Amino acid sequence: MVLDIAGRITAGEGSSIFRQAIRDEVAQGHKDILLNLHDVTYIDSSGLGELVLGHGTVTQNICDSCGTSVFQNDQGGWDPCQQCEGTGRTSWGRLKLTNLNSQVRELLEFSRLNTVFSIHESEELAVESFGG
Ligand SMILES: [Zn+2]
Repeated sequence: MVLDIAGRITAGEGSSIFRQAIRDEVAQGHKDILLNLHDVTYIDSSGLGELVLGHGTVTQNICDSCGTSVFQNDQGGWDPCQQCEGTGRTSWGRLKLTNLNSQVRELLEFSRLNTVFSIHESEELAVESFGG
């Protein structure tokens, strides 16, 4: 699933539209999500926060057995699944980025988030990296 994002991702409306778009994709069961940022002109720090939140939404951990979301406890460990007591967990989906402009690229590098996100030069390469 490729999401084409356009315009500015900044505090306020741009951020909330972006957040809703990610939630809609997840709600529809789309696990592999590629954000095509080709037409994004500018991202500010709160927009960057939205990217991180979106990444967390897509890559959240779920129970291996029943698919319920599982969360780390206060100690940073993992409790068994609340639904089925299962202890296995897996990452729900994958979020990748492509076609970053220089402003966005520099912002990610400056904040060291380029190590968190999977960033690809082109849509084609990104889709390939999902495994077909
Ligand atoms: Zn479970």
